[in-house]
Amino acid sequence: METGFLPRAGLQALLDALHQSGYRCIGPRVRDEAIVYDTLGKATDLPQGARDRQTPGRYRLETTSSLRNFSWANGPQALKPLLFAPHEAMWRATRDAQGKLCFSEILPAPEMLAVIGARACDLAALRLQDRHFLEGAFADPCYAARRKNLFLVAVHCTHPAETCFCASTGDGPRATQGFDIALSELDDGFLVEAGSDAGRAVVARLPLAVATPSQKQSADSEVGEAARQQTRSLPARNLRAALFANLEHPRWEEIAGRCLSCGNCTSVCPTCFCHSEADTAALDGSDSLHARQWDSCFTQGHSYIHGMTIRADTRARYRQWLTHKLGSWHDQYGRSGCVGCGRCITWCPAGIDITEEISVIVNAEFGVRNAE
Ligand code: SF4
Ligand code: SF4
Repeated sequence: METGFLPRAGLQALLDALHQSGYRCIGPRVRDEAIVYDTLGKATDLPQGARDRQTPGRYRLETTSSLRNFSWANGPQALKPLLFAPHEAMWRATRDAQGKLCFSEILPAPEMLAVIGARACDLAALRLQDRHFLEGAFADPCYAARRKNLFLVAVHCTHPAETCFCASTGDGPRATQGFDIALSELDDGFLVEAGSDAGRAVVARLPLAVATPSQKQSADSEVGEAARQQTRSLPARNLRAALFANLEHPRWEEIAGRCLSCGNCTSVCPTCFCHSEADTAALDGSDSLHARQWDSCFTQGHSYIHGMTIRADTRARYRQWLTHKLGSWHDQYGRSGCVGCGRCITWCPAGIDITEEISVIVNAEFGVRNAE
């Protein structure tokens, strides 16, 4: 299917087509002075002229005179909370009249969800979450139920934040996989390309013109410029050996002096999947609800086993996070667990910067991009 051009006023037609196909549309909206995913009723709900300024430990939203809806990098949420719920009941145990225990599974209500504005880094993170939740020995039924009817409209990123480094991880700023439709935003509208049969069916209902060579060239050049603008990077894509050779590096202790063990980095990280599970039982023993909630390798309880906490201090917890994320993920999933979204840098209250710390620990030059 050739690339089409959708004038800006035609964006409502995309939402209408998705609504008519039965989807609830979720997209970027401004709430609490940040870009968050929320329900979109109409195209005018999208932010216009919003621009995010992100530095270590700081996020600010500004409004410019631009008519563009996607001229920002990302907000604190990725796609993760839409599929891997922060808190959810999984099963219930009840006692019948004879006192026998009966177990029943609790699944999320089926819903067709269309997400508008997914970034390339978040699609890469979704691919990793799919591998974790769906492609192991047992598929997670709650994740699978939400993933089944998800429709993804990607928007190639043209305004990376100062904290972004997706170009060095190979995950952005252009979305290359995992979308149903991909949009390139220009001043007067959008280039539209379909990435799946479901996407082609929706695109066929849009009032598209044929995209001109000059529009395609502008779109390519903006995404290329977005990659060039990124100043942060990882020293290499596979840091496993370098990290495990530096388990006693003095920098771990130095980071522990700044890290608050708050877990913000793991909450905002689109690939982190750790969780804990707990039962809430009725006092009379008739009923018990089993729920899971996001956990973090930065909490004391996360490594508690049989009377002892294995990672008792912040040094051990930060080291666990980084050696897993950038090292042993390669053993589990064949790639690093970092897609370069930069959220852990922005939303860390201490401004700890993963790209800087890893460069010190593996003795690499900070900020030099390695295209391994
Ligand atoms: S480790 Fe940080 S930069 Fe990498 S994916 Fe997670 S939040 Fe994004
Ligand atoms: S690195 Fe930052 S965000 Fe993560 S636990 Fe430490 S202080 Fe919190």
